[in-house]
Amino acid sequence: MADGLPMRVPAPGLPARVRIHEVGPRDGLQNEKATVPTEVKAEFIHRLAAAGLTTIEATSLVRPDWVPQLADAEALYPRLAGLEGVDLPVLVPNERGLGRALALGVRRIAVFGSATETFARRNLNRTVDESLAMFEPVVARARAERVHVRGYLSMCFGDPWEGPVPVRRVVGVARRLLDLGCDELSLGDTIGTATPGHVRALLTALNEEGVPTSALGVHFHDTYGQALANTFAALEHGVTTVDASAGGLGGCPYAKSATGNLATEDLVWMLHGLGIETGVDLARLTEASLRLAAQLGRPSPSRTVRALSPEE
Ligand code: MG
Repeated sequence: MADGLPMRVPAPGLPARVRIHEVGPRDGLQNEKATVPTEVKAEFIHRLAAAGLTTIEATSLVRPDWVPQLADAEALYPRLAGLEGVDLPVLVPNERGLGRALALGVRRIAVFGSATETFARRNLNRTVDESLAMFEPVVARARAERVHVRGYLSMCFGDPWEGPVPVRRVVGVARRLLDLGCDELSLGDTIGTATPGHVRALLTALNEEGVPTSALGVHFHDTYGQALANTFAALEHGVTTVDASAGGLGGCPYAKSATGNLATEDLVWMLHGLGIETGVDLARLTEASLRLAAQLGRPSPSRTVRALSPEE
């Protein structure tokens, strides 16, 4: 540990390799108060890639006035053109967003759905049925263009207005997203209330509905300190795609609206300790997050980033 790496002690029954789906530049920055200049974002993404991350969700093509932090997508994306071997998905809310994505040469998109009616209405201003109807032509056109489609499914465990979310409900919406043509789903614990048994129950129920584990990623929030325990449960189930946010971006501990994204560094510390390959250089990743935290003018909420930081 003196060298800033965890002791490697593998545990049985876990995958040999995990693909980290880095969401910091999109899910992280859209939840930060400060808007980061385009050049700083571009440099951050280049540093994340240099640290070994191979899937980096770069930005969002929602209406600029809805998410001002990500209003510079058209200026940012071309600055990432030199990144070889890195997938740079963008979030696309509708057909207009897909048109913008295709014009930028985007090869992977994500759509953002909800398992619950209340969140669908509050976040998308639509019922769950209406939001799926909105995604249908987006996914169909993306597939026709051979663009990979990830479907985010938020509120898979708990909903702040509806309380615990029944597993059957999540399975139903997940099935419909896959039937639309999504290549993979990311199961979101948007308010961070899930616990490991719940994770296992949902994954098992999805398998029973014919959804293969290989089509599933997990997106945990650490709001209640459960994100790594939930990740471990998912790994035991065979999940090999895990979402995380560099430096814990979007989960500022001083903001009441903290969403608590799982920090990529915390995830990497656990995975490497378990002997699971990620391709990530933890020191370089931590350095990228420290630089961005300095830009944002506050410490990183990641425990691992703080533990690996030089003494002030
Ligand atoms: Mg998140």
